[in-house]
Amino acid sequence: MLSPIEKTLFAIVAVVSLYLASVTFRRMIRIIERGQGRLSWDRPAGRLMTGIKAVVSQNNMIRNRPFVSLAHTAIAWGFILYVAVNLIDVLEGMVPGFVLPGENAAGRIYRLLVDLMTAAVLAGMVVLLIRRFIVKSRTLDVAPQVKLHPGAVDGIKRDSLIVGFFILGHVGFRLLGASFDIAIHGPDPWQPVAALAAGLWADLGPSFQTAGLHASWWIAVGLVLAFLPWFPYSKHAHLFMGPFNLMTSPDRNSPGAMDALDLEDETIEQFGAGRITDLNRTHITDAFACIMCNRCQDACPAYATGKELSPAALEVNKRYYLRDHMKTLATGGVDEEPLLTYAMSESALWACTTCGACTEACPVGNEPMFDILSMRQNQVLMESAFPNELKGAFTGIERNGNPWQMATDRMEWTETLDFKVPTVAENPDYDVLLWVGCAGAFDPGARDTARAIATVMHRSGIDFAVLGNDESCTGDLARRAGNEYLFSMAAEGNIETLNAAGADRKRIVTGCPHCLHTLKNEYGALGGRYEVMHHTQLIADLRIDGRIAVNGEEGTRATYHDPCYLGRHGGEYEAPREALAAAGPNLVEMARSRNRSFCCGAGGAQVWKEEEEGREAVSDNRFREARETGADTLAVGCPFCARMMNDANKRAGEPMRVRDIAEIVAESMQE
Ligand code: SF4
Ligand code: SF4
Repeated sequence: MLSPIEKTLFAIVAVVSLYLASVTFRRMIRIIERGQGRLSWDRPAGRLMTGIKAVVSQNNMIRNRPFVSLAHTAIAWGFILYVAVNLIDVLEGMVPGFVLPGENAAGRIYRLLVDLMTAAVLAGMVVLLIRRFIVKSRTLDVAPQVKLHPGAVDGIKRDSLIVGFFILGHVGFRLLGASFDIAIHGPDPWQPVAALAAGLWADLGPSFQTAGLHASWWIAVGLVLAFLPWFPYSKHAHLFMGPFNLMTSPDRNSPGAMDALDLEDETIEQFGAGRITDLNRTHITDAFACIMCNRCQDACPAYATGKELSPAALEVNKRYYLRDHMKTLATGGVDEEPLLTYAMSESALWACTTCGACTEACPVGNEPMFDILSMRQNQVLMESAFPNELKGAFTGIERNGNPWQMATDRMEWTETLDFKVPTVAENPDYDVLLWVGCAGAFDPGARDTARAIATVMHRSGIDFAVLGNDESCTGDLARRAGNEYLFSMAAEGNIETLNAAGADRKRIVTGCPHCLHTLKNEYGALGGRYEVMHHTQLIADLRIDGRIAVNGEEGTRATYHDPCYLGRHGGEYEAPREALAAAGPNLVEMARSRNRSFCCGAGGAQVWKEEEEGREAVSDNRFREARETGADTLAVGCPFCARMMNDANKRAGEPMRVRDIAEIVAESMQE
């Protein structure tokens, strides 16, 4: 029990500490409010549950790096428990006679839980400190070619050290306090860990034990008061901002679905993000939520192949910029610094394949990919500064409706088929619209896939049609490259064509996951709502319905490369595997598959430009992994993956066959 002077001192320090912490938190909120759009807070109960579930289950952490995450989980659970423990300890110190819970079953369970969790937190913290400062895990480093705030390397270490000592000190002294209490009041089987420590002071006399209990209380609680003002200023703000970010993140049709820009609104002067305040509020929140754990960096294909891009460094740089300019930005000061001077280099900006691996990996719901896309919009729409090679693709979409700049017939690919592929004009009552895509229409390799899909549909008796020369590029590459203007032009044209063809009342099937994503997940915001499926989903359905019978070559081994826009962005992992397995080959999985699949390097308009300088091509990295499985066939489900993997195969001396699943199925179909 504290003396009256101690109580007054405690109250003053607590008020000052809470006030200082609240100043920084208020500044953070004001900075977030300077961002664009709104944080999502519809369905508050559901969103609250999302945050609670994430904190309690720690599932987002554990799914990557399970061992380290267990240590983190112990600390996170301890943190939740210690909010209550500290409150009870303070009340016991301040309120005469306050004991909660008392000497009953609840009290025993409480003491046991706190005792065991205390030990778990201490062990977890020691593991994390050893990992960072003794083992020096390389996953915590950022490669030298990546732009990183000069204070970040030491700053992150310093933050970790401070928080490490705070937790060891706070929880350790709480444990010592409990051990002094046992030494004074006698053994307590419900606090086995504290009882062990109590043996140390058993013979030291009541006055020492009481002084020890008193000092431990002050040090344990005092550390909280001392730490509080620094807490929101450091990366450990993620304890609150992480769940807040998860709770307020936007609902997207798919993890990769971009929001439409209102290009018609003449009052808008800025398109995309040139400065940090041009980012959406949710993406400013990302910086405060970031744990600086580098999970996103581990998953990033651009980083893995030595490019200047690290999604983690992007978030760290944003956070340090906000920290350096917190007062100015919070009080409405001008945000002068362009993002590209501190957040990332231009080379990093254009190295992103928009694969979505960073978003998938992040335990606090950060979306570095969307920052990159917003910055690209600024570069294209405001600065007219983008890789020169993209000009050709943009011009092609604008003038010819395809990035290849081909002015030829979009039906040429059908000429070698032994059946006729009808256009919508020839077969207006079709059941399924086959969206061929520009690759299917013009790329020689993808034409084989288009023919295979048409063959499967024809032999299965599906009544289908194509748009023929009325089909035009979906605008996916333009959008991912930041050219929202060109995307919206392409999308509006296609929506008009599709609706005129009645596709809004039918099913669309496509062999291109990029077309699928854009048609299904992004056209809706512009008024085009369609039921769209990938050809492997159609094949899997046809098998279930008994409409196709395949009789493949047994004994062959195939590995399947998940396309980012079908897998991570589309959530489809099973149908391609089912379709492939049905066609005969034994499936051998690559180490990085399904939601952890490694990009082929084509997405995000990469296929239309030179790859940024790095250690190796993304496609070579992926192809090596495919080859290591020992499979003879590399099965793909995307014309751009096919192109990248074919090129890598050629560079490696063609040790594998690269085939789309549609081709493998068509070949193995019984007449
Ligand atoms: S989307 Fe993919 S390439 Fe781009 S930053 Fe994220 S992980 Fe890296
Ligand atoms: S963005 Fe997410 S995954 Fe990347 S470092 Fe920050 S918390 Fe970790």
